[in-house]
Amino acid sequence: MLLTPHSHAPRPRPRRTAAALLASAVSVCLLAASAPVVPLGIGDRLFPYLGNPGYDVASYDLSFTYSGSNSEPLQAVTTIDARTTADLDRVNLDFAHGTVRSVEIDGEPATFSTAGEDLVITPGATVPDGNRMRITVRHTSDPRPPKGREGGWVRTADGLAMANQADAAHLVFPCNDHPSDKAMYTIRITAPEGHTAVAGGLPTGVDRSGGSATWTYRTRHPMATELAQVSIGRSTVLHRTGPHGLPVRDVVPTRHRKAVEPWLEKTPGQIAWMESKLGRYPFETYGLLAADVSTGFELETQTLSLFERELFTENAHPAWYIESIMVHELAHQWFGDSVSPRTWSDLWLNEGYATWYEAMYAEERGGKTMRDRMRDAYGASDGWRTAGGPPAAPKAPEPGNKVGIFRHNVYDGAALVLYALRQEIGGPAFDRLQRAWVSRHQDGTASTQDYVRLAAEISGRDLSGFFQAWLYGEKTPPMPGHPDWKPSASATAAAR
Ligand SMILES: [Zn+2]
Repeated sequence: MLLTPHSHAPRPRPRRTAAALLASAVSVCLLAASAPVVPLGIGDRLFPYLGNPGYDVASYDLSFTYSGSNSEPLQAVTTIDARTTADLDRVNLDFAHGTVRSVEIDGEPATFSTAGEDLVITPGATVPDGNRMRITVRHTSDPRPPKGREGGWVRTADGLAMANQADAAHLVFPCNDHPSDKAMYTIRITAPEGHTAVAGGLPTGVDRSGGSATWTYRTRHPMATELAQVSIGRSTVLHRTGPHGLPVRDVVPTRHRKAVEPWLEKTPGQIAWMESKLGRYPFETYGLLAADVSTGFELETQTLSLFERELFTENAHPAWYIESIMVHELAHQWFGDSVSPRTWSDLWLNEGYATWYEAMYAEERGGKTMRDRMRDAYGASDGWRTAGGPPAAPKAPEPGNKVGIFRHNVYDGAALVLYALRQEIGGPAFDRLQRAWVSRHQDGTASTQDYVRLAAEISGRDLSGFFQAWLYGEKTPPMPGHPDWKPSASATAAAR
């Protein structure tokens, strides 16, 4: 994700009082102690209720029927194929914004209720450990934002798009909503004639009948729930070819096609540029969804990144800057999408690397030096750590705050860690490290500890002290090779 510049400005932040914190802690305890049906999680430090124990999802089959109005709930069927990793009397899914009509497990009706943001299913009989399990949920999927929450469906001028990062996929469909459980996807969208529906992955066909069309897409690589994308709108799909014949597919509002298309033509060259740094692009297709909506961010949804149409049509930024944002989301296809974070505390690896290539592209194509950007980041870094926590131990999101966990500490603050690492181990080892990272963990999930281990292996050095200080320190360590770089007092005071 990248917040667009206007939303980077400091904003007043709602403060939770000690009393409010106490009240919510107490209610969680009461619920856990007295209610027979409870929300579960897999213990993510930042989102304790995301994900669920006891099973591993292999695939999702999502069917959405769109009425033609983006203010009405979609009719939906979600089918989940999973393998149990424990004996399950109950199966928890994350789902918090739709009406559930029925649930089946392996074709048998199951009872269900809700607890917190979980749909809790009770099968007729215990599902044993090591078993295949098919869960079918018939439900609605509501595109109107729930109170006090953002994300999930995004209503555009002409339909819908999706922005699930970090914790909003379960506002759209029932799922195991944590990036550590990646799965394959088949996505079907039925929409009235005149609309075009596109999802991540490649199309497998369109069936037209009775004034509507059903579009089907399938992924060829596993994907995290937070990276799913579905676009429904009055859109045109543009096709071009990237390196090695890679199908490049963009989705644009038809009435803005002429203005947006010159930007989209830059994508194949950007992919070639990234491949020169990292090796082959990791997925079956890539492209941009230029959605007609002001989200305040761009998002690296897998194989089809979500952009605000206005970024390309309002001439608010220089060309090199817009292109560097395109490269930021493209870099995420390797860092964050192909290699997903094991926990949300590993987010610095996504955003740090996306920022790194964004800055490197700006240096090579825009004449904005990485060194100047990192010197400025160094000045601000102590303030960012105070506000958001150290890069690999970020503070939890604050309720109601749009920025969530996407603070400076994981963007330029994390790119600064990578810069320090390059200074420490040298450019050649640093380049080998990221190539090894994206190839070794392709289509998987990986943690900060995996990265620290790989860096030691590639450099042949014990870097534990270096990483402890740079990733977890409250203060920014001295920059190797730049003893003159100092924290800036004014930046510290101004930091969010
Ligand atoms: Zn990003």
